[in-house]
Amino acid sequence: MSADKFLYFGCYQEAGHYLFESIEGHLRKVHNRPEFNFDGLLCPRDPKPYVAALTRLGGLGYSALAFWDYSVDSRGGSNSIFFAPSLVCSGETIAKGAERFFPEVWRRLPEFHFHASASAPAEQLYVPGQWRCPKCSFTLNQFNLNASDGSVTTRDEAGDKCPNCNSPLWRMTWRQDAMEMAERLANEVQLRRAAEERVKVLEAERGAA
Ligand SMILES: [Zn+2]
Repeated sequence: MSADKFLYFGCYQEAGHYLFESIEGHLRKVHNRPEFNFDGLLCPRDPKPYVAALTRLGGLGYSALAFWDYSVDSRGGSNSIFFAPSLVCSGETIAKGAERFFPEVWRRLPEFHFHASASAPAEQLYVPGQWRCPKCSFTLNQFNLNASDGSVTTRDEAGDKCPNCNSPLWRMTWRQDAMEMAERLANEVQLRRAAEERVKVLEAERGAA
């Protein structure tokens, strides 16, 4: 098999943990990849089922989404892992891949939640609540006003379109934000120098008068 496929480790139709690849949505056992045997090692410490933790496996070039899973085998220690062939993908992306490549496994899960470890990368990558138009650079800060307690929190759901050109808005990365801030700062410094020069001229004129 190629080294760049989604993989699933866990129970399928019977007790016992095995590694599977997806052949057009059907599971086929993989016997020759012992490096993917992380049985029970990558799940959250808390034994609550269907809460998926994200782990980067640098040496393998894979990311793993692992959770305690009692949907086939109800005995303690039963777990499932979805492996995605990427070191930067989000937990959501792995879950989407799981749904697409292992639909039988995905459908049998009674519920599914992300552990805090699975959402951290998105927070590190994007400015919370900030959206931007890739065409005209219009920037929008999205907030929710929570009527129950009056608090204001950032809103990161897609959907809003640019009021200038009707393009879908993209999330703003911290890098884009930092570069824009640097540009704005350079402009401000120029304005300040010009203002200082103007003050000098005015003071000289007053001194001469
Ligand atoms: Zn626009």
